Amino acid sequence: MSNNNDRSYKAQKVIDRLGQKLNRQITGSLVACVHCGMCTDSCHYVLANPGDPTYAPSYKADRIRKLFKRHYDWTGRVFPWWVKAGSIHTDEELEELKDIVFGKCTNCRRCSVNCPMGVDFATFNRMARGLLVSVGVMPEGVAVVSKDQWETGNQMGVLKEDYLDTLEWMADELQDELDDPEAGIPIDQTDCDVVYSINPREVKYDPRTIAEAAKIFHAAGEKWTMASEGWDMTNFGLFSGDDELGGSVSKRLYEKVSELRGKRLVISECGHGFRSTRCEGPNWAKLDVPFEMESSIFTMLRYIKEGRIKVDKTRNSTPVTYHDSCNFARSCGLTEEPRELLQLVCTDFREMYPNRADNYCCTGGGGAMSMAEYTPERLKSGKVKADQLKATGAEVVVTSCHNCVDGLTDVIRHYELGMEVTQLVNLVANALVIEEKPTVAVEEPPAEAAALPLAGRTLLVADDEPDQVEFLATVFEDHGATVLRAANGDEALAMARSEKPELLPLDLAMPGRDVGEVYELLRKDPDLAELKICVITGRPELRKVIYERTVRPPEGYLDKPVTEDDLVRGVRKVLEVAHEA
Ligand code: SF4
Ligand code: SF4
Repeated sequence: MSNNNDRSYKAQKVIDRLGQKLNRQITGSLVACVHCGMCTDSCHYVLANPGDPTYAPSYKADRIRKLFKRHYDWTGRVFPWWVKAGSIHTDEELEELKDIVFGKCTNCRRCSVNCPMGVDFATFNRMARGLLVSVGVMPEGVAVVSKDQWETGNQMGVLKEDYLDTLEWMADELQDELDDPEAGIPIDQTDCDVVYSINPREVKYDPRTIAEAAKIFHAAGEKWTMASEGWDMTNFGLFSGDDELGGSVSKRLYEKVSELRGKRLVISECGHGFRSTRCEGPNWAKLDVPFEMESSIFTMLRYIKEGRIKVDKTRNSTPVTYHDSCNFARSCGLTEEPRELLQLVCTDFREMYPNRADNYCCTGGGGAMSMAEYTPERLKSGKVKADQLKATGAEVVVTSCHNCVDGLTDVIRHYELGMEVTQLVNLVANALVIEEKPTVAVEEPPAEAAALPLAGRTLLVADDEPDQVEFLATVFEDHGATVLRAANGDEALAMARSEKPELLPLDLAMPGRDVGEVYELLRKDPDLAELKICVITGRPELRKVIYERTVRPPEGYLDKPVTEDDLVRGVRKVLEVAHEA
């Protein structure tokens, strides 16, 4: 590494730190460019500024590359003029570099996927941002948001009391809407199957998305919670290039889920939140994360497929299109699940072109929405997005990213497209069919038994493990039910026909007759039309033996091992579900 006494303190620091950041991936991208220009038209900034070469990805990359060549690559030390090596000396030059790496690139990675040499410009652009941030050279918005996330734990500086007040408010609204005092938003519950994390934008500008997610969890009978602290799944470190901030924010989230002993962290719809929490966070935080992490898109899709929630797609009949978030589609490969979900909850989905990993950025990525000084350039670069949106003929654009919601809203307003922007959670909640509780009068059980939650119910337990049969039967009997017992599929079928129980908790891995076949026979028997079935299994891979059949799906589903409380609550919920007319 060369030194120069005329260089400013900050410029010298940037050069020193560049050496510490070089790894195989970044060095590969810094040396591999052959300046073929194939990436040029990938960039929405280029398309909006024809004839201006300074927007080309390779031109922008060369502003960073020249430093590497000059200080860390032998070719630049021997033939600097030949490989266009160059250094940086003044704070003014750092400011110019700032305007390129923050103001002329959203780190969308469209050029990266179109480079035949595998150059990932966005990755080393993020590195360059981090170098500048480390010496305090950054747009003011980046400094403010980073400070908020360091100090308050969330990037919008939402105070704990405001966050909790908002959750309470949304829980009240939900209870009123459903007329159900059991609906709500649990806080800091331990041992839940789902810990739900959100984007602070939801608290500040869009709290309905929290209530709608709560409505979906409630309808699915999910055992879920939100955390009072460590709830922000966004991470400004992804945008600013500050790996220390990235590690600190991720760690705060992971530690809270671990403290609550949550089994799965569900990340609300956000491309950058998903990428930073699920993909990059464990590396920044240097942690092995002991629980599963998934986007809420997967959660909602699973609930529908497992029959845990019912939806009526005719409630969403306005023409919609889908915008792929760069972080979801290009960086994480999530392209099909949102479309599968859309097809289940909307009647008129129109594809946008190009799409999936080839989609154009919403123009709000890479923290662009926080950098007011570059707004005119950002909106100008949105022309290609506006043309894409307009060509679909849709009235609503759906996106699974809060960042994209803001970016698209700005583009739609600027180009006067008159479209609405929404998210999948809004559509799923709108399509949700909440079954009314049965109002049929039932014979009053004796006063003492009436207090028990399963009093007066008849259940048939079918499981091949005698211990499991006894466990289930004892739990149900302790809660007031009359329980019949079957050790295999044939017995379950015969007893269901002769005894007509109300509900069958069904194990999927029993010996004898194929369980899928038993399930289909039960469903097709007109005398058993009222029978409700709740699958209880420790082998989720077997679900397909029943879910792939064309008969009605089960009314409930529970994963083993299952606690006594979960069991009783789950079975009660299934008993309360009315059959579809
Ligand atoms: S980054 Fe890749 S596509 Fe772009 S000019 Fe360099 S080699 Fe060509
Ligand atoms: S990452 Fe996106 S915005 Fe940045 S240069 Fe490449 S295509 Fe353009």
